Amino acid sequence: MRYSQLLIPTLKEVPAEAIVVSHQLLFRAGFIRKLAAGIYNLLPLALRTVHKIERIIREELGRAGAQELLMPAVQPSELWEESGRWQKYGAELLRFQDRKGAWFCLGPTHEEVITDLVKREVRSYRQLPLNLYQIQSKFRDEIRPRFGLMRGREFLMKDAYSFDATAEGAHKSYHQMYNAYRRIFERCGLDFRAVEADTGNIGGSLSHEFQVLAESGEDEILSCDHCTYAANVEKAELKAREVTAGEPTHAVEKVSTPGQKTIAEVAAFLKAAPSALAKTLLFKADDKIVVVVLRGDHEVNLPKLKALLGGVEPVLASDEVVSKITGAPPGYAGPVGLAGVEVVADNALAGATDLIVGANEADTHLRHVAVGRDFTPSKFADLRLARPGDRCPRCEEGKYVTHRGIEVGHVFYLGTKYSVAMNARFLDDKGEEKPFEMGCYGIGVTRTMAAAIEQNHDADGIKWPIGIAPYHAMVVPLQMKDAKVVETAEKIQADLTAAGLESVLDDREERPGIKFKDADLLGFPFRIVIGQKGLAGGTVELKRRGSAEVLNLSPQDAVAHIQKAVAAELQKSA
Ligand code: ATP
Ligand code: MG
Repeated sequence: MRYSQLLIPTLKEVPAEAIVVSHQLLFRAGFIRKLAAGIYNLLPLALRTVHKIERIIREELGRAGAQELLMPAVQPSELWEESGRWQKYGAELLRFQDRKGAWFCLGPTHEEVITDLVKREVRSYRQLPLNLYQIQSKFRDEIRPRFGLMRGREFLMKDAYSFDATAEGAHKSYHQMYNAYRRIFERCGLDFRAVEADTGNIGGSLSHEFQVLAESGEDEILSCDHCTYAANVEKAELKAREVTAGEPTHAVEKVSTPGQKTIAEVAAFLKAAPSALAKTLLFKADDKIVVVVLRGDHEVNLPKLKALLGGVEPVLASDEVVSKITGAPPGYAGPVGLAGVEVVADNALAGATDLIVGANEADTHLRHVAVGRDFTPSKFADLRLARPGDRCPRCEEGKYVTHRGIEVGHVFYLGTKYSVAMNARFLDDKGEEKPFEMGCYGIGVTRTMAAAIEQNHDADGIKWPIGIAPYHAMVVPLQMKDAKVVETAEKIQADLTAAGLESVLDDREERPGIKFKDADLLGFPFRIVIGQKGLAGGTVELKRRGSAEVLNLSPQDAVAHIQKAVAAELQKSA
């Protein structure tokens, strides 16, 4: 293709709302234009990258035995009533009526549609396992669409759904998809981690997020610096340490702490380390009050607490409730002498002595409190947020390090949640009716494109990984009026095409500086510059985007060099 014929509307300015680099660069390099909040046109260069990501997905899912289909974006409310999500999904679900007054929504995801389809078409265990996927536009009326393609309202997603006869089979399907995802993101050229994720309302099931590492990521990930364990911070486990409790040496003592309520205030006032304090938090879980005790420098992890409560959502108790239960103003709650409520403690407090805790009395704390002597929790559990430096629970040798990540994919074992709700059953080998065992698997296609830029850019522009670059090379003739320069450039492009490589020939009558700037901004992996000076010696200049090195090669060698690099990349798909 010739640059002058392509729609590549590059710009110098970025809109003020573009605060992350992928949004800025996609806009400046002429890849996207906004139509409405969170809704974008994908221009020709963007669509080429999207098609490459889709192709990788199709190849790898095909290899994993999944079949592609296409479901409608418009979905009738009845299906969502069946699953119970018409009520539960909230304002992210865009609902509307047709001319007859029937309610529909724009699909944010397709569990209902696929479960209904499979329920009608699949009768026997002999037709299982079945894995169906589509690549399609989703609509979610996100409360804060932002960061361009990273959190849009309309966006492209690959969503897959597996159906198995047994939980064991579903786990196998899950692991197949997990492995396919690893290959997909490797082939996209991304540095990512597959992290264990919170399973939200499902609980106890398998879930991994695929996170592209980038400073701008919305998620915090902890990974072990020694083994492969990685988890979303909400999920990152901590192993209970063996403690040999020392004998408490002091009796409990009341101390006056007028006006000192927070851990930081009390620690400073009593000249103690925050870790020498315990914090006492009261939660409401259904109609019950649960008291959680943690070391002063630790933070509670709500998903872990929820799991301990058997899936009941804990809500921090109001000041009135705290005062009623403890008999003291908020800020002075403590576990000693609290009657009629369940007290649970974080593992880090097992065997602790000499703690400072609230006295359940205004302006007063207790010191020299010993767990087991002065209060006895009903349970010890892993209840706190892990943090960098904590010991890895799996290998127990490494330590957690922290990263920021962008969630580009999610694999999820669903069990029979939807099949039971929607009464989707098959006949097993004994002729008995059973609900399907399901899994669901998403990849944000447009988000993956943005994440690739978040991870691969510099001050001059994008640095596309070879596997998903819109074109492999920019061919830049410097003097458009010199017939030999132009002829050589055209010959190079023809040779690249013959070798199966994609290129743009920058035929614009622009100064070299402008052509170089645009080539860097668009970020194709290779740039070949053809100028009068080099041609006099029979060479052209080859440069890899992001590298300072310039190779002076014959036109044939320059083409061969790119061919070799791209072939090495394609090896990954072998
Ligand atoms: P998030 O926590 O970021 O809102 P999610 O848990 O809602 O994501 P899923 O429902 O698992 O996401 O959707 C599958 C994939 O779709 C995600 O892994 C992500 O890559 C992509 N995705 C989700 N929401 C958006 C969005 N608003 N814009 C672009 N891509 C999205
Ligand atoms: Mg979401």
